Amino acid sequence: MKVDLPAATNTTQRQAAAFIVLVRNSELFGMLQSMQDVEQRFNSKFNYPWVFLNEEPFTKEFIDATTSVASSKTHYGLVNESMWGYPDWIDQKHAADMRHKMKDLPYGTSESYRHMCRFQSGFFWRHPLVLSLNLEYYWRVEPDVRYFCDLDYDPFLYMKQNNKKYAFNISFKEHSGTIPTLWDNIKQFAKNSTENGKIYFKNAYKDSLLNLLSYDGGQNYNGCHFWTNFEIARLDLWHTEAYQELFNALDKSGGFFYERWGDAPVHSIFAALYLSKDEVHFFNDIGYKHSTYQHCPAEESLIRRCSCDPKASLDFGDRMSCLIEYMEARDFNPVDEERTVND
Ligand code: GDP
Ligand code: MN
Repeated sequence: MKVDLPAATNTTQRQAAAFIVLVRNSELFGMLQSMQDVEQRFNSKFNYPWVFLNEEPFTKEFIDATTSVASSKTHYGLVNESMWGYPDWIDQKHAADMRHKMKDLPYGTSESYRHMCRFQSGFFWRHPLVLSLNLEYYWRVEPDVRYFCDLDYDPFLYMKQNNKKYAFNISFKEHSGTIPTLWDNIKQFAKNSTENGKIYFKNAYKDSLLNLLSYDGGQNYNGCHFWTNFEIARLDLWHTEAYQELFNALDKSGGFFYERWGDAPVHSIFAALYLSKDEVHFFNDIGYKHSTYQHCPAEESLIRRCSCDPKASLDFGDRMSCLIEYMEARDFNPVDEERTVND
């Protein structure tokens, strides 16, 4: 006789956490695909709620279908113009000219993509629906992604118990044409705030992942970032004064519209400079695919839980991957370095 007992881990205490998804009605079927993977591999055992956001009202069809796939509550929120539109200091004619100039870059001419990246950088974490749920952690999900591995522990609980504040599973190199002045703006922000007595990146030269971002100690940005289409993090990371001030400064510069700054480099640069190394986590055991790129764990003990080919993993075999930079940045210890130099 088969007895259906809940997994042992299912008895662990639930965290204040949810899946957060920005998605369009037209992406319903890709959304159901992603949800089915997440539910089957993890959430059917843990039942965390889903939060869907959209700058257009969700259709009844979208709401009904996603509600029926979710093993827990679903919430639907509208993103209004205050979080999805042009701030008054943006010159829209100049923005249109710049989009035209970027026609050969990925999403170079897309206006909606720019609103999306700005929303994911500066607003999803303070959307009224998200605030009303009092969440401590979120897990970002997108339509049309795959989750390949059974996960029978709670990653939110893992983050909590191990004091992790930001987590990723794919690191990637950005196309430099989308962010020509991003790093200069970051450096300017760090300089200005320091001059005003606010040292926001006090970890940067001691215990940070600075070397993930730069091959020359911070002079230039190498484009490495964590992909944010999968992202598990503390919401209060984005509520810090440091991040809000950084977002405001970046937003004022106009780069979300005049260039095509992604939320991934913005989140990653902040997390890498602001957090200490140990507060960032690589979820190696979460096999995952977005577009044509995937991360698939290679460890014997993990392979059995997954349905992907470790040889197809981009980690160390693809020049777009930044996992080597991450590993080196994590292991780099400037204190040791100083000692070797001085001894
Ligand atoms: P990519 O991952 O950088 O190729 O960009 P995607 O097209 O996957 O967009 C990132 C996320 O934002 C996905 O969850 C999309 O569903 C969502 N998204 C992108 N553009 C829009 C938009 O105009 N409206 C809404 N509601 N969601 C969008
Ligand atoms: Mn995507």
